[in-house]
Amino acid sequence: MAIAEATREKMLIGGQWVDSSDGRTFEVETPAKRGKVIANVPRSGAADVDRAVRAAHAAFPAWRATAPRDRGRILTRIADDLDAAIDELARLSASETGNAIRTQARPEAKTTADLFRYFGGLGGELKGETLPLGESMFSYTRREPLGVVAAIVPWNVPLLISAWKVAPALLAGNTVVLKPSANAPIAALALARICQKHLPPGVLNIVTGTGDEVGTPLAVHPLVAKISFTGHTETGKSILRSAADRILPVTLELGGKSPQVVFPDADSDKTADGVIAAMRFARQGQSCTAGSRLFVHQSIYDSFIDKLATKVGKMKVGDPLDESSDMGAIVSRQQFEKVCGYIAEGTQQQGARTVTGGLPPKDGPLAEGYYIQPTVFANMGNDWRLAREEIFGPVLVAIPWTDEADVVRMANDTHYGLAAYVWCNDIAKAIRTAHAIDAGFVQINQGLGQIVGQPYGGYKESGLGRENSLEGMLEGFTQRKTVTVNLTS
Ligand code: NAD
Repeated sequence: MAIAEATREKMLIGGQWVDSSDGRTFEVETPAKRGKVIANVPRSGAADVDRAVRAAHAAFPAWRATAPRDRGRILTRIADDLDAAIDELARLSASETGNAIRTQARPEAKTTADLFRYFGGLGGELKGETLPLGESMFSYTRREPLGVVAAIVPWNVPLLISAWKVAPALLAGNTVVLKPSANAPIAALALARICQKHLPPGVLNIVTGTGDEVGTPLAVHPLVAKISFTGHTETGKSILRSAADRILPVTLELGGKSPQVVFPDADSDKTADGVIAAMRFARQGQSCTAGSRLFVHQSIYDSFIDKLATKVGKMKVGDPLDESSDMGAIVSRQQFEKVCGYIAEGTQQQGARTVTGGLPPKDGPLAEGYYIQPTVFANMGNDWRLAREEIFGPVLVAIPWTDEADVVRMANDTHYGLAAYVWCNDIAKAIRTAHAIDAGFVQINQGLGQIVGQPYGGYKESGLGRENSLEGMLEGFTQRKTVTVNLTS
């Protein structure tokens, strides 16, 4: 399939589609073909952020006064339009992120529609309680919105992560300024176009540009009442620091280096398929929940790694817009070079073995884009750099283990705590292990993504707060007020 010609994008402020105030733009390159520009996008700065936050602030009183069921009805209409636009959204997301359309971008677009529909039905859950304080007092709680929400998102799953923030924030009565990544703003702009057909002006705004020029002024803007951020742990820390000055509520969805633990009774093709899914090879490993540290019991180590290598070696890497590709391209040259640096180190690591993959080809069709073959290193140590740092690329390290307590200790020996995967047919042992691992999102014998409605978020330096769920909306996008009335006359 051909890659689209470059489009000229505008961003959304106060219901208008506008350029940046100084007219600057930046180019978005498709990872499928080096140097191929697919869009020119407004390059905003602090003045644009200020315009957007003020528009959201002005829209807040009327939006919070709209009944939750009516806000929900609007989200449901947006979901209908998203359903009708799945193919277009998937194409845009695949073109800018490099994520393969069949395995990643289309499922992402479908889940985005599902997420709006899910929150569209939850208006009635924004309820309070009455408190039994005796006959002389009537005391009750209300869930109130916070105000202007700054939603700052990364590039790896731009539609769905935008929706994780926008849909619950809007349902709860907040207004939003969305800031997509400069690597992948196009699908988020398309999402905003669909939302804007149904929303009053200013309720949703979207400002495009870099982290320094847009993210920083947005995070420190005095009219922002809440920040919901997804991205690197280090960026999250700097946002948390600046939020501390204003005691601003912050939700952080950050990085991971998630363990997968394979027990001796799970040496099967089914487990190998599950491990590949959990590693998110089909998204080039560019997933916060990638199970990128694989602990395999010594007794099945060679046999299981063989099964895994055979399956990984058959994955088809290619054009993200080609329906037959299992796996697409790395998002940008910068990220591609970073991942290649880790692979080069892995191939030279004494004691380690390159089981499959390795450095990308220097010529041929795959050299035309930022393509990297899925790569597995065996006999790794849990304390080596490749086993400690988030690579955010298709690189899996396999580490042998023998003792159950020891593998749990190794799984937990990280400052991250996002996801974990346990592969074991003895259910008591599997659940015991799942409970012992310090992570917010754990699966036994499957490696799926987040299902709409599951509270999702990290332990330790992988995050703060939960999203993707009713609980996430109530905790993250409302504040409670207690009202007490004296009933004595
Ligand atoms: P990033 O932190 O570089 O950028 C994320 C967003 O923040 C972008 O929109 C960026 O422009 C903006 N930004 C950058 N610096 C900023 C600053 N100082 N102030 C405010 N905003 C700023 O992350 P990335 O490279 O886009 O994404 C990859 C990271 O995201 C990985 O660490 C990955 O694990 C994480 N991630 C986490 C989850 C999760 O749910 N936990 C999901 C997806 C990605």
